[in-house]
Amino acid sequence: MADMAKADIAKADMAQNTISTLAGSIGAGLSCACPRCGRGKLFRGFLSLRARCDVCGLDYSFADSGDGPAVFIMFLAGAIVVGAALVTEAQYHPPYWVHAALWLPLIFILTLGPLRPMKGLMIALQYHHKAAESRFGGADKS
Ligand SMILES: [Zn+2]
Repeated sequence: MADMAKADIAKADMAQNTISTLAGSIGAGLSCACPRCGRGKLFRGFLSLRARCDVCGLDYSFADSGDGPAVFIMFLAGAIVVGAALVTEAQYHPPYWVHAALWLPLIFILTLGPLRPMKGLMIALQYHHKAAESRFGGADKS
């Protein structure tokens, strides 16, 4: 009986700490936190995920952002760097080493910097919208 009450309290705690709004999910994703509770850590290494949330126990095996974060960042960083290089070349005609000194560090900053938050964001949005690969067989097995 006491165990039942404890389990109910734990369930209620989990329900209260669940993120339900889109803004909350976006915030949890950008801060690389668990998409369900917003408190547990999402990453183990730079981009590798933990097996589960150490606060609420959410299994992260559903999360597969694939190339999504990298593609968005490539388009955005590419537009910024190429645009800036074109404007700089047209305005100042600097030697090539100036281009290399300017744009190589910028490329690293603009690609590696937002990669973790972008992957966290995509996983949080995947969790929020319950997105998953389509499967044959119809019935939802979760
Ligand atoms: Zn969690």
